[in-house]
Amino acid sequence: MCFFLNFIHFRPYFYQMSQQNLLTWYHQNKRDLPWRSTRDPYKIWLSEIILQQTRVEQGLNYFLKFVDEFPTVKILAEASQEQILKLWQGLGYYSRARNMHQTAKIIHFDLDGKFPENSSDLQKLKGIGPYTAAAIASFAFNEAAAVLDGNVFRVLSRIFDENTPINSHSGKKLFSNLAQDFLNPLYPALHNQAIMELGALVCKPQNPDCPNCPLQTICLAYQRKTYKNLPVKEKKLKVKSRYLYYMYFEYNGKTLIRKRVSGDIWEGLYDLPCIDSDSLIDEIVIFERISELALNQSKIEKIYALKHQLTHRTLFAEFFKIELNQEILAIQDSFWVDLALLKSFPASRLFEKFQQSINLHHS
Ligand code: SF4
Repeated sequence: MCFFLNFIHFRPYFYQMSQQNLLTWYHQNKRDLPWRSTRDPYKIWLSEIILQQTRVEQGLNYFLKFVDEFPTVKILAEASQEQILKLWQGLGYYSRARNMHQTAKIIHFDLDGKFPENSSDLQKLKGIGPYTAAAIASFAFNEAAAVLDGNVFRVLSRIFDENTPINSHSGKKLFSNLAQDFLNPLYPALHNQAIMELGALVCKPQNPDCPNCPLQTICLAYQRKTYKNLPVKEKKLKVKSRYLYYMYFEYNGKTLIRKRVSGDIWEGLYDLPCIDSDSLIDEIVIFERISELALNQSKIEKIYALKHQLTHRTLFAEFFKIELNQEILAIQDSFWVDLALLKSFPASRLFEKFQQSINLHHS
């Protein structure tokens, strides 16, 4: 308690001292990452959107591929959605890639190729929330806007020993104020990068390296030994199940595929015609339904099954191979493609696994 009162009293001094310690630590320990050596808002934006989806190690490859294929916002804006989805393949949350394309078009066609230079205007663009806006505005334009990603939430919750759930409405507001308060107004870009890096390298979810932490002297959770319980998250919504019974028709080296429609998972990606259900369907019923759709089949067999986890859904997918005696009419807006061309269509991770399972991935 005594420490806490002192801390409140001397807060500006502690802040300054800790901000300085944080920057010194950052200069000595930061990883050399390509988006850190640029002030180009396009590249910073690309890296932030990709890093929302994956960890730095995997994100780096995607970032380099995107910059290589789409070196400017103009080239990204003029690319087809399928080119972008194909490059994004494996990252999940495909709506992020579609939003990225839409935003690139707005910047290129409506804003003369220039990114807005402040966080509030950046947030008007599709797919750019408060965090991404603060990252672009501070890294590219040095605006004093504090970033708040998972790493920063964790560091702040521990420094302030704050147990308000970080995913609650009040938590987001509270932590956003704490982040802004703690921001170094002289070096906002460096401060933001430093606190994120600290969360990634030192103040890790498990076993934080407190003895080597530059913020140890002001960290209340360290003083009180509460850091293991922080940050606090509200329990997530119940994850629902969904059952997908895919039909893999085969005739003369071809199969039927379809483009997934809007308003559902994997919009714009390709997979097979499918019987879709919120509850388990007996396999005999599936065989009957497929037989009704494909009267000219010579054989139906289940060839692959897997469970696939999305954020709010557990998918149970089964794949039925149907050998045909002659070509049937396309179903569910599908169309015939050569099997050898299947891998050129953008696909979900689930469908990609299926393709690998039947050895359709030709190198
Ligand atoms: S002292 Fe430990 S718990 Fe506190 S910020 Fe540093 S690493 Fe995290």
